[in-house]
Amino acid sequence: MYDAIVVGARCAGSPTSMLLARRGYRVLLVDKATFPSDTISTHILWPHGAAVLARWGLSSALEATGVPPICRRMTFDVGPFALHGTIADANGGRGGFCPRRKVLDNVLLEAAAASGVEIRDAFTVEALLFDGDTVVGIRGRQRNGTTVEERARLVIGADGVHSFVAKHVHAPEYDRRPVAVCAYYSYFSDVPQDDVELYVREHCALGGAPTNDGLHLVMVNWPTADFPVVRADIERHVQRALALAPDFAARVNSGRREETWYGTAGVPNYLRKPYGKGWALVGDAGYCRDPITAQGMSDAFIDAEQLAQAIDAGLDGREDLEMALARMEAARNERVRPMYEFTYQLAALEPPPLPMQQLFAALPGNQEATNAFLSAITGAAPLGEFFSPENLRRVMSAAALA
Ligand SMILES: Cc1cc2nc3c(=O)[nH]c(=O)nc-3n(C[C@H](O)[C@H](O)[C@H](O)COP(=O)(O)OP(=O)(O)OC[C@H]3O[C@@H](n4cnc5c(N)ncnc54)[C@H](O)[C@@H]3O)c2cc1C
Repeated sequence: MYDAIVVGARCAGSPTSMLLARRGYRVLLVDKATFPSDTISTHILWPHGAAVLARWGLSSALEATGVPPICRRMTFDVGPFALHGTIADANGGRGGFCPRRKVLDNVLLEAAAASGVEIRDAFTVEALLFDGDTVVGIRGRQRNGTTVEERARLVIGADGVHSFVAKHVHAPEYDRRPVAVCAYYSYFSDVPQDDVELYVREHCALGGAPTNDGLHLVMVNWPTADFPVVRADIERHVQRALALAPDFAARVNSGRREETWYGTAGVPNYLRKPYGKGWALVGDAGYCRDPITAQGMSDAFIDAEQLAQAIDAGLDGREDLEMALARMEAARNERVRPMYEFTYQLAALEPPPLPMQQLFAALPGNQEATNAFLSAITGAAPLGEFFSPENLRRVMSAAALA
């Protein structure tokens, strides 16, 4: 009998397991994938996400993979205005990273193993075990094809956007929005590029960042309705998008594409109730937003931390478990909602509304406000504070004076 079985061993599952094991709980972590392995996801880890890794003592393990830091002089370009700045409001100004998922997820899995978590990869969960209406375990197929049952006080679904656990406990879903953007991305060598660059254009958004092994991630987003057309001729559509950012295009095209184009029609946007009798959800299983603002991995880390705290409070009797988990859900929702709205607006890939255009026009030349803006839109600082009427008035009057 385990204290917790965690289904899914990537950004949400490995840290949740690690944090519980570090508190002395007996944890089984299973995943149908084998590791190290990639998954369909680009991988910009903003400074506030990197700060969570630092809190867990994992920065040096990540840095040892050779992935360079980003967000020290990043570019956010909306066409008429290109903003360059740094994000100093998180991770002590040391920036974020863009680690390949096969690298990052393996660092997280090894940290879970080092904390005493029992790990079984190539293990597919095929059923949840119930006692009445309470989840008490899992049934799964192991690497050798045999089926086993395992029991735990809690089964945690860290199993991503198509969560098996969420589906089989009928986790209530709310605030759902349809899929907004589709994406293709690949890896290039020999691209002159030191930091993350993002270009938002009408009908598409593109960008890139240096990653592991001297390679550069290059990614393009379009409205999801375009997916069949883009998929039919990826290269032509990527080149069309790149042409909207000519300097970036020239640098990408001076390099060489080293891998195939990876793509997806997109992911839905939703929040789910992340707990019930004998179960909990963490990461994308509980909350998913369009990837355009690159929040998912950082959100998964924060969620893992908050879930582990709530479970610990409940299992060791300091607080009623259900109340601790309800508090966690409320805190999650309060934290993520402004970014959820902002992300969905950006994912429409439509020209920014007039007040936003006026803001973009006011920022160049005001480095402090530009840095604050970049901190807000990446999640290092609360969006509401930057976009408060008083702050916007301050930025506008500074521009008027200049
Ligand atoms: C195109 C795209 C680009 C993105 N770009 C970024 C970005 O730049 N930055 C960022 O922060 N986020 C990005 N994201 C979001 C990010 O990928 C997710 O938020 C993040 O992976 C969530 O982690 P997770 O651990 O919750 O789920 P996942 O990473 O999806 O892991 C779920 C795991 O569960 C396992 N699993 C599922 N079902 C079962 C089962 N039945 N039995 C056993 N195992 C199971 C899977 O094998 C998988 O390993 C992007 C997403 C997409 C789609």
